[in-house]
Amino acid sequence: MRFSKFFIPTLKEAPSEAEITSHRLMLRAGMIRKLSSGIYSYLPLGLMAIRKVENIIREEMNRVGAQEVLLPLVQPAELWKTSGRWHRYGKELLRLKDRHNREHCLGPTHEEVITNLVRYEVRSYRDLPLNLYQIHTKFRDEIRPRFGLMRCREFIMKDGYSFDIDDEAAEETYKIMYEAYERIFDRCGLVFRVVEAETGTIGGSFSHEFMAVSDVGEDTIVYCKNCSYAANIERAEVKNYSISEEKQRPIKEVYTPGYKTVEEVTSFLNVGPERIVKTILYLSDGKPLAALVRGDHEINESKLLRLLGCESLNLAPPDVIKEITGADVGFAGPVGINIKIVADNAIKGMRNFISGANRTDYHFMNINPGRDFKVEIFGDIRFIKEGDLCPKCGGELEFKRGIEVGHVFKLGTKYSKALRATYLDKRGKEQYIVMGCYGIGVGRTLAAIIEQNHDEHGIIFPLSVAPFSIYLLPIDLKDPEILNTAEKIYKKLRERGFDVLYDDRDVSPGIKFKDADLIGIPIRITLGRYLKEGKIEIRLRRSGETRIIPLNELELTLEKIFKYGTH
Ligand code: ATP
Ligand code: MG
Repeated sequence: MRFSKFFIPTLKEAPSEAEITSHRLMLRAGMIRKLSSGIYSYLPLGLMAIRKVENIIREEMNRVGAQEVLLPLVQPAELWKTSGRWHRYGKELLRLKDRHNREHCLGPTHEEVITNLVRYEVRSYRDLPLNLYQIHTKFRDEIRPRFGLMRCREFIMKDGYSFDIDDEAAEETYKIMYEAYERIFDRCGLVFRVVEAETGTIGGSFSHEFMAVSDVGEDTIVYCKNCSYAANIERAEVKNYSISEEKQRPIKEVYTPGYKTVEEVTSFLNVGPERIVKTILYLSDGKPLAALVRGDHEINESKLLRLLGCESLNLAPPDVIKEITGADVGFAGPVGINIKIVADNAIKGMRNFISGANRTDYHFMNINPGRDFKVEIFGDIRFIKEGDLCPKCGGELEFKRGIEVGHVFKLGTKYSKALRATYLDKRGKEQYIVMGCYGIGVGRTLAAIIEQNHDEHGIIFPLSVAPFSIYLLPIDLKDPEILNTAEKIYKKLRERGFDVLYDDRDVSPGIKFKDADLIGIPIRITLGRYLKEGKIEIRLRRSGETRIIPLNELELTLEKIFKYGTH
């Protein structure tokens, strides 16, 4: 490609709204442009990189026998009503009506559509297994689109779905897909961790997330320094709890005028937050519930939801809190309230703690579980935190930020039951198909690659996803020798199948060098003053390693670089 003809509007400065490096660099390198909040156009350079990522995904999916399909973006509401997600999905689902006033949505994910397709086509066990995927646009009306392609509303996703005869076969497929994902992200040049994850609105029995390690990641991942345990913080289990040896003291009411939060109460009573118990009131499937966690712990609503096995869990509104406690918000406690109490495991071992007295401006001291109130369910309902131990081996844990680039779920029969996707087994008996689903955010993966591969001058593309592998940079095209040689090299390299970006612009060498670094093409060939001696310069973007070689050794040198990499 000749730079002079290439639609690549590079920028000196990124627009101020770009908060993270990958977003800034993708704008500056002319890869993407924003149309509206969370909605982007891909320009040629950006699309070329996207296609490289897609092709790695495609190759690895095809290798494990997955077959590519393309499913509709616009989906009828009926299907979503059948699965129950029309109501449950919430505002991320963009709903629209056609000219006949029929309700539709833009697909945020495709479990419904694919299960619907398969239920009509699969009859017997002979038609299974099936593993289908697509690389297509998704729409999710995210509440806070940000960070460019990292979290947008319209984005490209690879989504795959597997259909097996039973759990055992489904788990085998899951394993194969998991390994394919490891190869995909390895080939993309990402440093990543695979973690146990929550199943969220997609549902299902278990899942893993593929997390690119990065400080700008929105997720926190926890992994053990000692064993293989790794989990999303949402999911990470807490197993270490201590039992206090203290003797029970008589309960006592104290006046705490206006002191409501843990910070206020601890400083007023001059105690540590680990002496306090927070009482949080919820409506679980509409019924009131008190959840208790220690003052220095944070409640984890996904764990609570899972423990309760309920459909919905919402914080109780102030009027309900007042009705239950008979006090202002901020003074709820477990003693004397007449609703179901669920407590974190840590509470079991606590003695003489402080909590609200269900009376405005009062707290109780020396509360003891069992003696002063009854807990219906004890469980792990809090977030793990620094200092907690590995739930698997008791080892020390490490906390890092991660970008979720991929997610695999074992769905089980959730969607096949809802949509009645069945097959006839060997005995002619009707069985539900066992499903799995597998997503990769293509744009987010590219953004994560840039996040992990850049310096102060710009992007440093790994060869595997670089839009071009070679940047041909003649420093002065007015010099006929340079011009002729550049044209010759360009032609020859293209004939040999190398993808070359030829900077044939009539601009200063400084601008060319800057753009070359910004765009981050792995190999730069510079034609300058050495040409008089029959020599050219080859520079690797990543290491900065520069070699002056005779012109006739160019191809051999390139072959070596492609063989051994650009590190
Ligand atoms: P998140 O927790 O980040 O919102 P998710 O759990 O909703 O992600 P999935 O439904 O598992 O995501 O979607 C599969 C993949 O699609 C994710 O792993 C991620 O890489 C990508 N993805 C999800 N939402 C977005 C988005 N708003 N913008 C870009 N990529 C996204
Ligand atoms: Mg999401």
